[in-house]
Amino acid sequence: MIAKRYEPFWKTTPLEKMSPVEWESICDGCGKCCLQKLQDDETDEVFYTDLSCHQLNAVSCQCKVYETRQTEVPGCITLTPDQIDEFQWLPDTCSYRVLHETKELPNWHPLLVGSDKEMLRQGLTVRHYAVNEQTVDEDDWETHIIKWVHGTPEPYDVT
Ligand code: SF4
Ligand code: SF4
Repeated sequence: MIAKRYEPFWKTTPLEKMSPVEWESICDGCGKCCLQKLQDDETDEVFYTDLSCHQLNAVSCQCKVYETRQTEVPGCITLTPDQIDEFQWLPDTCSYRVLHETKELPNWHPLLVGSDKEMLRQGLTVRHYAVNEQTVDEDDWETHIIKWVHGTPEPYDVT
């Protein structure tokens, strides 16, 4: 008898049909969505900065107030399956966006590697560059705008 090939849940279950636990496990914990963003008034274009929300632990890349984040930080967005069509604002390495667009998780994902070690090796979390938003005057946030190049940040001059 030939054994049935095991397919992991993210290959067989669309994002919108995942259980809450499966949905949460797709997050790779990069912390990039917790970076502050600026939006161009005229074009609506969204620019990422390297400034992290003050509630992000930049070493673990975990939210310090995860359970109460939306009352602690009113602008915090909770990703839900019904927003899938709006995921283009997420960084292009975000596993929700990648899975939605390509149907494959990247080979560095903790669900495939078993830990975040490959993400850290490739510099794919914000751990090494996030700057606490509270240490920079809002008038200077534009100088912190970045662009993503292969999942890592590079300075971006918007002028
Ligand atoms: S950008 Fe995506 S994968 Fe990274 S922490 Fe945010 S939701 Fe998770
Ligand atoms: S409150 Fe937590 S989840 Fe929300 S943006 Fe800040 S660090 Fe991220």
